[in-house]
Amino acid sequence: MTSQTWVQRVTTLNQWRRGGERAPHKPLLLLYALGRLQQTGSSSMSFADAEANLRRLLEEFGPPRTTSPGYPFHHLTTDGLWMVRTPSGPGSPGPNLGRLRAGATGELARDFAQAVERDPRLFAFVVRAILDTNFPSTLHEDILDATGISLGTAELSEAPVLATMPRRRDPAFRERVLVAYEYRCAVCGYDGQLQREAVGLDAAHIRWWAADGPDEIANAIAACSFHHKLLDRGAIGLTVDHKLTVSSHFLGRSAMAETLVLSVIERPLLAPQLGQPLPHDQHIAWHAAQVFRAPARLAPGAPGAP
Ligand SMILES: [Zn+2]
Repeated sequence: MTSQTWVQRVTTLNQWRRGGERAPHKPLLLLYALGRLQQTGSSSMSFADAEANLRRLLEEFGPPRTTSPGYPFHHLTTDGLWMVRTPSGPGSPGPNLGRLRAGATGELARDFAQAVERDPRLFAFVVRAILDTNFPSTLHEDILDATGISLGTAELSEAPVLATMPRRRDPAFRERVLVAYEYRCAVCGYDGQLQREAVGLDAAHIRWWAADGPDEIANAIAACSFHHKLLDRGAIGLTVDHKLTVSSHFLGRSAMAETLVLSVIERPLLAPQLGQPLPHDQHIAWHAAQVFRAPARLAPGAPGAP
């Protein structure tokens, strides 16, 4: 099987999606198994041992709803990249936690594991492709850390990965969004430049590109790198009347946490230039349902707030 075929297979998993719900459970299990393979030379794991780590990965990088780690452990077997066996022989006992805990073990399919072990470049392509098709780039390093994957200095030409991607990014997207927002973070107003080039300023998708979010100004804000990351992690969110919210799971008692995060509650988003669209309701609703860690904190002075 060629490298491109493997990359294609990891990016076209049978993922249960309804109305734009993101389902990164199988990709996270694949990354976890690839991390294990890289660290120990074997991706084999008993469900009982892996359960707590998988649960943590799903909570941290999955959508806000909770999903049992039993689902990806069982359902990934249908994609031909993962095998499960029990003490009574090959085959998964199903997603039921009790049955999986009773001695089920999983590992990457032999041909897949051998292919990525033989070729470190393929290993890196596969990891990159899984990240690119499921998560925004602000989360990639965090996910690599959490799964123990090191991509090292393996030469990474993007070409083979990009060639298999079904969608292309619009290279002018960042520029269009930054111009619309006049090169200012829509959350805090940051507008830093280094030698007349914006520095630390991004075009942030509201509905992730990796979740079919379009490269349109109505699906973006300009955001400093810090607020971009907090938006993608679901620490901050938007309301349909274009005000900012902060997750009640966000904690920070320092003056800096207050200035950079807590003080933005209820603050209106900085608007783009006249004639440019504010973020559309449907994209805000997607972010609220799929990314934002509800509930939102109450604004100081709101009924029920201190
Ligand atoms: Zn900012």
